[in-house]
Amino acid sequence: MEAPHVLVVPFPARGHAVPLLDLVALLAARGLRLSVVTTPANLPLLSPLLAAHPAAVRAVTFPFPSHPSLPAGLENTKGCGPGQFPTFIHAFAGLREPVLAWTRAQPDPVVAVVADFFCGWAQPLAREIGAAGIVFSPSGVLGVAVMHSIFRRLVRRPEGSDDDRFSVAFPAIPGEPSFQWRELMMMYQNYMAGALEEKVGEAVRQNFLWNQQDSWGFVSNTFRALEGTYLEQPLEDLAFRRVWAVGPVAPYTVAAGARGGEAADLMAWLDGFPEGSVVYVCFGSQALLTPPVAAALAEALERSAVPFVWAMGGGGGGVVVPEGFEARVAGRGRVVRGWAPQVALLRHAAVGWFVTHCGWNSTLEAVAAGVPMLAWPMTGDQFFDAWLLVDEAGVAVRACEGGIAFVPDAGELASVLADVAGEKGRGVRARAKELAEEAARAVKEGGSSYADLEGLVQEIRK
Ligand code: UDP
Repeated sequence: MEAPHVLVVPFPARGHAVPLLDLVALLAARGLRLSVVTTPANLPLLSPLLAAHPAAVRAVTFPFPSHPSLPAGLENTKGCGPGQFPTFIHAFAGLREPVLAWTRAQPDPVVAVVADFFCGWAQPLAREIGAAGIVFSPSGVLGVAVMHSIFRRLVRRPEGSDDDRFSVAFPAIPGEPSFQWRELMMMYQNYMAGALEEKVGEAVRQNFLWNQQDSWGFVSNTFRALEGTYLEQPLEDLAFRRVWAVGPVAPYTVAAGARGGEAADLMAWLDGFPEGSVVYVCFGSQALLTPPVAAALAEALERSAVPFVWAMGGGGGGVVVPEGFEARVAGRGRVVRGWAPQVALLRHAAVGWFVTHCGWNSTLEAVAAGVPMLAWPMTGDQFFDAWLLVDEAGVAVRACEGGIAFVPDAGELASVLADVAGEKGRGVRARAKELAEEAARAVKEGGSSYADLEGLVQEIRK
């Protein structure tokens, strides 16, 4: 029998595309044939996948749809200001017509479309061609439920519409929602209200909110031992017809440096430190710390006296540290200005804690590596991810809270760093090791994520 043909639509942000491409590799290994939509500047992201699965996976490249409010040549959210994000989502939706035309011209019909949750336009497209539309979430299910509810509250009811999806409350959290929970909701709502411009509200509706209504199924890079509560008693706002939890999708066997970053020198440097003694600091691929925030963090690292690796990731050369900082911490601290080999670093035995913005990929990478986290959420669903990690899963300690521009107290942050390195961090460290075992079990034969992935493939094959 011909292998079923699946169309895949990643959203061009690294944190979204990489896990979806990991899922593509898993689907290719299970006998599906996959065509992945991309644009010229994003094609390199696909290289490892295409090299590993030359027969099963191919790239389909379209020009990036131009938009008057976006700089020419911008094809990835890297380089996008936060205010431009909704416009970027809107611009990318311009691929709908060319992708539809391409799909119709294929000799082997597309039976399923797997599209990132910011590409809601792919769901009606799937219906139009008679394929199953599947939403891929690079985030966990709690984060998505919360975002759905907040988007609904923010996006204005279209004139004349009596659609009751516009009058929603915050999702009910199983158990007693704490005061703090409501505060988090309000904070995020305010953040989004600022980021959403009225003129792109319609695009957000189409490309995020309506996923739920138009899709046939929903697949999330999460797993039952982490988010079982929200999978078993689905929140009202995650009322997708079918939900598969298939994470962590990242392979366990990534070689050091395989996801980019110069690994050898750092790994050798880390070899010189005792097990669990080094703090790894990184805020993902997008966040750019302002000078006062960077200065507070630098001071905290300096005062705490802990060994550390500070990867400036997204911000890269743009992050400014105080004069002389690197010289003063030489020998026990390293600053990585380019792309860091994060997965390899987290798996190095010397790395004991991870100061993170709680981006979902970073979260799962730390969970899989059994590294406890110091949660410093900065935007979006990260606030809810932090809540999940600290209050529910018990694998993280709160480092800082208050958004990307919030300047923490260097002294307080230094004592959190020093505390976790000692006795105080012990319980959280043990719990992180446990959860790592649960994550590893989930993706092995007999595990929950393994079973969900098999179920997804079976449904696609039907
Ligand atoms: N990452 C990396 N090196 C860096 C910075 C980030 O490898 O220097 C990777 C990290 O391992 C993760 C991704 O980039 O896979 C960031 O995704 P996440 O969801 O954590 O955050 P986002 O970048 O979307 O804010």
